[in-house]
Formats: sequence, C-alpha cells, structure tokens
Amino acid sequence: MKNMQAQYTAITNANIVLENGILWDGVLLLEGGKIHSFGAARDMEIPAEAAVINAKGAYVGPGFVDIHVHEGGKYTTYYEPAEAAEHFLRHGTTSLFATPYYSMTFDEIMRALRTLREAMGKVKTLKGVYMEGPYTNPDYGANSATNPWRAPIDEKQMRAMVDEAGEMVKVWTIAPEREGILSFLKYAKEVNPAVRFAVGHSEATPMQIRALGKYRPTVLTHAFDATGRLPVYGGTRGYGPDEYCLKEPEVYTELISDSCGIHVHPEMQQLLLHNKGVDRVVLITDSTYQDSPNPENLKHVKDLNFDPWGGISGSKMTMDQACRNIMTHTNCGIAQAFLMASTNPSKVVGLDEELGSIAVGKAADLVFVDDRFNVQEVMVGGELCHFS
Ligand SMILES: [Zn+2]
Repeated sequence: MKNMQAQYTAITNANIVLENGILWDGVLLLEGGKIHSFGAARDMEIPAEAAVINAKGAYVGPGFVDIHVHEGGKYTTYYEPAEAAEHFLRHGTTSLFATPYYSMTFDEIMRALRTLREAMGKVKTLKGVYMEGPYTNPDYGANSATNPWRAPIDEKQMRAMVDEAGEMVKVWTIAPEREGILSFLKYAKEVNPAVRFAVGHSEATPMQIRALGKYRPTVLTHAFDATGRLPVYGGTRGYGPDEYCLKEPEVYTELISDSCGIHVHPEMQQLLLHNKGVDRVVLITDSTYQDSPNPENLKHVKDLNFDPWGGISGSKMTMDQACRNIMTHTNCGIAQAFLMASTNPSKVVGLDEELGSIAVGKAADLVFVDDRFNVQEVMVGGELCHFS
C-alpha cells in the first residue's frame, strides 16, 4: 500500500528497461519525484519506510516522449492540451509536445501558441511545442490545396510568431528551399538559442540543406513521408531530405510506424533502422483526428486518418501502439523500442538531462508494460496515475 508519508517509493519485481539492455528482476528506488537508485533485487536495500509498488514482472521503462502529435481522441493538443494530454497519458506518454498544423492560418497559430503558453506548467505532461511549419513547402503533405502559406515570408508575421513561441517551441520544421528561410532561422535562434530545426514537407536537395550552415536541420520530419526529390538527369533517381538524412549520421529521423506499414512500408522501416541505427530513429505518432472515411481499399486500417480526398492525414496512434508496430515490422526488441519512443526524442528536444531514460537523478516518469506494450501503469514524477 502506498503511504503518502513515505520518503521513498520502491518498485519491486520489475524488469527495468535501461538504455543498454534490460535489468531482469530489478528494484527501482524513487525519491522526491526522481530516480534515486536501481539495481538487481539481491543488491538493493529497500528502506523500511518506503512505499512499495509490486510491478509483478512488468517491463518498467522511461515514459514515452511524443514530440510530434496534433490531436488525440477528439482533442487538439494545441487548443485543448489538458484533454489531449490525458488521452495520451493513459497510453504511457509522460512528455508531450503540442503540434499545430502547417496548414493553420496565422491567427490560428497565434491562438494556439497563446493557449499553450497558458497551459505550460499547468498540464504536467505538456513539455513544449513542436511547430510543423508554417514555412514548409505547400506542395507536400495533406491539405496541400488549402495551405495558406504559399506567399513569400512576411517579416512582420514571422517575427510575431517567433516572439509568441519564445522558449516554448523546441523544434520548427522548415523547407530549406523556401525563399527567405534563412532570415526566419536566424531570428528563431536569436529568440530561443536552444531551438532545433527539422527538415520536412520539402524537396530540398542535400546541398540546399547544407547551405544553411550552422542553422541546418538536425532532425528529419517523418522520414519517407511528404518529401520530394528534384528531378536529375533523365532516368536517374533524384535526392532530397530523406537522402540527406540517410547520409548524415548525426541527423535524427522521425518515423511513423503504423500497424499496416502504410506511412512507411516495413521494408523501408527496416532500411531506415539498418541505416540510421536505433540511436537515431525517433518514433512519433503524428496523431490527428479526421472525420473522413477510409478509402475502399484501406477499410480495414484502424490506426490511420485520411483526408477527404483519400490521402493519408496522420495517424490515430498512441506511442504504445507505435512501439508494438515497430516490433512487428522490424527486428527491434523491447529495449530498442523504448530508445526510439523515449530516449531519442528526449535528445531531439534537448531534455535528455532530465528525462527519457532510467538513470539516477532523472524524473521518475515511468511506464509499466507487458511484452506486447500493453500499458499496465503510468507514473509521473514518482506518482502512479489513477484514471477515471
Ligand atoms: Zn504532423
């Protein structure tokens, strides 16, 4: 039983998922919302006053970090962050980055940023914002026809948005081929020196990306989705953002791994893992909410959304499913799935000193799962979540 007075919480009978493997039959000791220590049961001394939680043989790993997620259930992460965060918390996401759409208008984006600023600190799992755009290439991605950002970058609007974003926005996705993009990148970095850039919804060549110098993206937004390749000499294959990312070893790459391998075919997921390694792939849900029906030939697909024209428009996924899916489509195991769902994303947003893995001093944000990633318990700051 949990004793509210206890200084320590001990999680016993746990298979603790570490960055480099699994500690079977381990004990985790938590104190003040953080990980105090952990080890094999035979080596750990549990303080007499500790509250004890029996994990009953579950895998206990770092809570999921979803850096790219628009909507959950029927709630938007950017207008209704509390409700959306609750939806994802049930599925083990203990750090969420609200993600406005690239096709939202200026006024909608400003409203979203103001809403999120209000919510920061109040919604405990909301850790920041991921801006997918708006300065992407409108020719790539869903809602292409209605994308309001075709005009050249308006300096005044751009500055207003960056100012409102402040330090809350951790990542901006951009298309390097957009005219005037460098002035945006410089200003975003001036306002928030810790900000990172992602390349996505783009057909930029590796040379165009490299030309951004110290502002060049360190992340690829959803690999193999919504990118193009400029044509090269007749009959040969072009190269674009995906190829840049495959070639540059330090670049992280987001992956949408849905149950049927529709966003990215299993063969391509295997290629990505083989090429980038488990240290550079970042699982995202890119979850959205759409009312449009599935196209006839994809009626059976449960975890995807489609736009009114039958195009793919994000997923209905949660991170527990994403982990299960990547284990279905590749030779990835449980510890590797946690790397891609928790550790790597925490590095992309620069919060890996505080969270994203089980290490002494990090936040006791934990998820208990079985070997199919069915979530059994979720813990935030050392407290078990109780869902109504
Ligand atoms: Zn997205």
